Amino acid sequence: AKERGRNTYRFYTPALNRASERRLQLEMGLRSALERRTLELHYQPLYDLGAGDLVGAEALLRWTHPVHGAVPPSEFIPLAEDTGLIVPMTAWVLEEACTRMREWQRVLGRDLRISVNLSPRHLQAGSVVEMVRGALVASGLSADSLELEVTERLLLSADEAVSRQLEELREVGVRLALDDFGTGYSALSYLKRHRFDVLKIDQEFVQGAPSNAEDASLTAAIAAMARSLGLQLVGEGVENEDQVGVLRSLGCDLVQGFHFGRPVPGATFLADAAGPNRT
Ligand code: C2E
Ligand code: CA
Ligand code: CA
Ligand code: CA
Repeated sequence: AKERGRNTYRFYTPALNRASERRLQLEMGLRSALERRTLELHYQPLYDLGAGDLVGAEALLRWTHPVHGAVPPSEFIPLAEDTGLIVPMTAWVLEEACTRMREWQRVLGRDLRISVNLSPRHLQAGSVVEMVRGALVASGLSADSLELEVTERLLLSADEAVSRQLEELREVGVRLALDDFGTGYSALSYLKRHRFDVLKIDQEFVQGAPSNAEDASLTAAIAAMARSLGLQLVGEGVENEDQVGVLRSLGCDLVQGFHFGRPVPGATFLADAAGPNRT
């Protein structure tokens, strides 16, 4: 047993060191990317399913590390949360996204809206309300053009401070969207306690609905619930016509997904938005 322990130790140490080394390099890289403003936002279009009009975009962070290459948000967002970098990062995302959208509204002469993701751990650890107000003032974007997305999981652990912030954000006049809906086991009571405007069905259900009976009935139940609560329903992760068909039959309001448009740099988003509609 002793010997096996030794082998295990010898076998795993280099891998562990490599993992913590990568983490350390990413943390330093993220710090410097924030200072040098080399993080990027991509924008994924959001369409009205009935009318086919472009209604806005979701801002999604992109980061290319000088040595490690493209690092996915699923890796660097948790790192930003652990290190506190999520605070300056979110401040930058909000100001950048609002500024771009204000510019596009002017150029296109249309009231498009912009969605920004908020980290649950950020909302739990501190306030984002002043940051949101600051971004609106700095950009000149009107509050009703900004939508803030929080995941359903936030509500499971929502304390007084989180509830108060959500309430204050409503008073500021921004829209609130509940993201990844269906994955966080939220009870209806949470939805009643915290007032949201938009419900985004998780892509897992959208993608499963055409072929999987369980996903289909969950999607239908979520759609019915959104309607009865007066929430706008967004289907995300839409990749094909079959999924569009299901969402149409359920009266889904807005759609987002590779079938309609991938997340793209701002200049591409603007060029596409100025062209013909895609739905
Ligand atoms: P999310 O908010 O649920 O964003 C949707 C994710 O699904 C994005 O991944 C998007 O690129 C991807 N997606 C969109 N349409 C499709 C589709 O048709 N098929 C498939 N397979 N995927 C699709 P991404 O950009 O990698 O972001 C992953 C997550 O990272 C986001 O999930 C969000 O939770 C987080 N994230 C991204 N940007 C930010 C940010 O600025 N702040 C915070 N706090 N979180 C962010
Ligand atoms: Ca989102
Ligand atoms: Ca989502
Ligand atoms: Ca999304």
